[in-house]
Amino acid sequence: MSDYDVIVLGGGPGGYIAAERLGHAKKNVLLIEGDSLGGTCLNVGCIPTKALLNAAKTYEHALHGAQLGVNAGDVTVDWTQMQKWKDQTVATLVGGVGAAEKKAGVTVVKGYGTFDGPGKVTVDGTTYTGEHVILATGSVPVMPPIPGAQDNPRVIDSTGMLSVEQIPSRLTVIGGGVIGLEFASLFAMLGSEVTVIEMLPEIAPFMDADVAAQLRKALAGVTFNLNCKVTAIDGGTVKFTTADGAENSVDSDEVLMAVGRRPAVQGWGAENSGLEVSGKGVVVDDRMRTNLPNVWAVGDVTGRSLLAHAAYRMGEIAVANILDAEAHRKGEVMRWNTIPWAVYTNPEAAGIGHTEASAKAAGINAKAVTVPGYLSGRFVAENGVKAPGAAKLVYDADTLQVLGLTVLGSYASEMIWGASVVLETELNVIDLRQVVFPHPTVSELIREAAWAVKA
Ligand SMILES: Cc1cc2nc3c(=O)[nH]c(=O)nc-3n(C[C@H](O)[C@H](O)[C@H](O)COP(=O)(O)OP(=O)(O)OC[C@H]3O[C@@H](n4cnc5c(N)ncnc54)[C@H](O)[C@@H]3O)c2cc1C
Repeated sequence: MSDYDVIVLGGGPGGYIAAERLGHAKKNVLLIEGDSLGGTCLNVGCIPTKALLNAAKTYEHALHGAQLGVNAGDVTVDWTQMQKWKDQTVATLVGGVGAAEKKAGVTVVKGYGTFDGPGKVTVDGTTYTGEHVILATGSVPVMPPIPGAQDNPRVIDSTGMLSVEQIPSRLTVIGGGVIGLEFASLFAMLGSEVTVIEMLPEIAPFMDADVAAQLRKALAGVTFNLNCKVTAIDGGTVKFTTADGAENSVDSDEVLMAVGRRPAVQGWGAENSGLEVSGKGVVVDDRMRTNLPNVWAVGDVTGRSLLAHAAYRMGEIAVANILDAEAHRKGEVMRWNTIPWAVYTNPEAAGIGHTEASAKAAGINAKAVTVPGYLSGRFVAENGVKAPGAAKLVYDADTLQVLGLTVLGSYASEMIWGASVVLETELNVIDLRQVVFPHPTVSELIREAAWAVKA
């Protein structure tokens, strides 16, 4: 007989939600966390970045309030207070996770665990047994082998960037993905001179390229170097090759390495346990099963999607399938194409599903329409008619099924879940036109996009 019904290794969004749901289902659950409950997301990811971004957006609003008739006088930034705000936010939410696990009856053990094969996890010399094991060890930042990057105190990852002692006058960000862009936007709003160096021809490669270009142009105060490859870093000087092969460099007080994250598949026994691990991460099917019996993996460690809400859903799918062997027949499987994304830059962007290019590459007879932000009354009332904003809808020209949506502009991250419902339920453009959107809202751009389709 096992000590526990389920052992969960890793207390980030994937692990803690799975443990909590199982606890509420009256399972005897052990959750093992080596660092702090909440994982990357709560401690050094989603939450602290949003606490700082919102503070910076508040500063921006105050600075530019005069055109709306609000004069705030001398507006200044207090970085120490912003840090306090961020730390308090994190502490509150991490405490909340601890309380939620307790309420669900989950036993939490602090320490780094080693997976010793199906049913066995060891922490500090004690081996625990469980009928099922859920692996949720998350991901770690990638530090590429750029000469001069290692052991360079000026080169820091996103965790270090969250608590720099002062706002850097000059910041260079290597990588134009979500994390790089959010930090670039944050520090540009706070007055840093920000340079982004990106190897690809456009930022945010998961986004429709034309909307990504609009976002890039909208990020005031950030200088972008696209098609550029960093070749070396010397102190705070970042050397790079430009698109036409010329050598260039930029001097910085801090260099943020934001070239991506990789699944944390080393150091906890994945190597010796017979677990199948590919170059992407722990291999799972759409029920979150690994190749080993009763061993499941969820979240970033699978490499399937490195987003907190994807980790939540993967955790829930694993739980549903642990509790009911027939759950997959009732729809409890991961639908990888319906995971939304959001970038909390100023302006925000969010999207889901296919881009126009990815739909066409998949052989679909795809078409797209784009409508500008000023078609929403609320958008204009709050941002003015010239502010950057758009909604781009990608659809199947044969069936009119909605395949993807990208929104650029205020509240994008809050409205994209509506598009998730559209994709989950496989609605077509005509169905979407029948949905009543509240007025005035920025989400009406989605409705405008549906009506812009010639059908
Ligand atoms: C700067 C930044 C901003 C981000 N912003 C967003 C955002 O806005 N929205 C979004 O959706 N996603 C965001 N993410 C991504 C998000 O943080 C991750 O997708 C999410 O945390 C993944 O959850 P997880 O449970 O898979 O892993 P993690 O959150 O990484 O949790 C894994 C946990 O496992 C623990 N662990 C690892 N190995 C062991 C072991 N052997 N024993 C015990 N414990 C172990 C770790 O200490 C960690 O706490 C951001 C990430 C970063 C870095």
